Amino acid sequence: MRYGQIRQYDVANGPGIRTSFFVTGCRHHCPDCFNLDYQDFQAGQVWTPRETAQVIAYLQDPITTGLTILGGEPFEHSRALKEILEDIRAQVQKNIWIYSGFFYEDLLKDPDAQALLDLCDVLVDGPFIKDLKDLSLSFRGSSNQRIIDLKKTSLQGDLVLWTRE
Ligand code: SF4
Repeated sequence: MRYGQIRQYDVANGPGIRTSFFVTGCRHHCPDCFNLDYQDFQAGQVWTPRETAQVIAYLQDPITTGLTILGGEPFEHSRALKEILEDIRAQVQKNIWIYSGFFYEDLLKDPDAQALLDLCDVLVDGPFIKDLKDLSLSFRGSSNQRIIDLKKTSLQGDLVLWTRE
């Protein structure tokens, strides 16, 4: 798995002050993609245990409220991300958001994606659709995208959208 960048402090992709990282590689090719450079699977650098340790150190900062994973398409790297999140979860307990151009219902059909979802708290799903672009929305680019509370969805058996507490 390769990544384009790691941000120690990110206030745009989830609530609070978050650490985030962007994996590279995506086949969705949404028109007006916000991260065109990261569609390339060869973009960026190889993720190593050093990057995992760096993210853990950033998350241990008391000011940091959680982790967000973006792309590219994170679910192109479900197995690698599962191992990384297991390492992170073993060291630090903060909420994890993940973005995807796939729909939640489709991710559930893939055991590797399901295993990655199990390690996350919130999924922002669906492709970016430029005709539905809305700058007033928090944490998503277009109104078709859903912010799904994965823990509540799992408990209740019905899809539950995330709300600010
Ligand atoms: S899913 Fe994201 S990275 Fe992939 S093409 Fe769409 S906007 Fe770009």
